[in-house]
Amino acid sequence: MNEVRYSRQMLFRPIGPSGQARLQASRVAVVGLGALGTVLATELVRAGVGFTRLIDRDVVEMSNLQRQSLYDEVDAAEGRAKAEAAAERLRQANADVEIEPVVADLNWRNAEQWLTDVDVILDGTDNFEVRYLINDVAVKHRIPWVYGGAVSSFGTMAFLNPGDTPCLVCLFGADRSGGGTDTCDTVGVIAPVVAIVASYQVAETLKFLTGNDQHLHRSMLYVDVWNNEFQRLQMGERNPECPCCGQRLFAHLNVQADSLTVSLCGRRTIQVRPSQEWTVPMERMAERLRPFGQVRFTGSLLRCEFDDWQLTLFSDGRALLHGVEDVARARSLYARYVGM
Ligand SMILES: [Zn+2]
Repeated sequence: MNEVRYSRQMLFRPIGPSGQARLQASRVAVVGLGALGTVLATELVRAGVGFTRLIDRDVVEMSNLQRQSLYDEVDAAEGRAKAEAAAERLRQANADVEIEPVVADLNWRNAEQWLTDVDVILDGTDNFEVRYLINDVAVKHRIPWVYGGAVSSFGTMAFLNPGDTPCLVCLFGADRSGGGTDTCDTVGVIAPVVAIVASYQVAETLKFLTGNDQHLHRSMLYVDVWNNEFQRLQMGERNPECPCCGQRLFAHLNVQADSLTVSLCGRRTIQVRPSQEWTVPMERMAERLRPFGQVRFTGSLLRCEFDDWQLTLFSDGRALLHGVEDVARARSLYARYVGM
């Protein structure tokens, strides 16, 4: 171990040389290398966590650079895969640890392959479809995970430890589709709130990995940097009837088809269909999409003209993406603009 590299962290008494050695022996996975994920990965790798897996399905775009500090203009111009660009940048910061980039869309088929050989899973995603999947894997295999979300100027964070704390389903119910559909691509996000939420996620991870469980937050953090709110929300007790951690049904893992079924539908049109039907709040959705192009809203369906593609959204959540040829891009656009 490099004594100089970690000297300031080892001077911090709760970590010390023994905590540092534990970090070196630890393995984590970061899901999503966007705004939260780049902060998560940076702090974990620099702290000396021995193995970090970086999982992301997207490529770097110019609109990422305002907050995703691991990427630069060349990455955006070349459309590099985020996981690979992030891994390359972080290896320059710390060559003593192992970094494994995975360019993949995390889903029920591969989630257990990528998430079960680690000590902690960190949520850097932007949607609840993937968070519920992470929660299923975490509960099934008793792996702690750190939920994090940031949009606009506010964010939330919670360290969820199966068997000890409530799980995501206990906290938010089995179906988050009735909740807000705000995403960073519809209402925006500012960098400061992302850095705060992600840093809290890493702090919780460092406490757990170094055996400082008594310092864990044990509640949900809510912060709004613009409206000056900082709250600690009680998570309450585990729900014994919870379909996930109570009944161990793992609905997001034991599916017969992708939770988003994506199929080619003629030339340059792709259909995206969520496996669970949900009722889209069409008027609110129309309002959210208006800044991105002309929106036409006719009863049961909504159309939005983006620059180089068009969205047709049905009230049951099904969507047609016209002018899109790549299945992964269709999935990504759906998660971004429609959400779940
Ligand atoms: Zn639960």
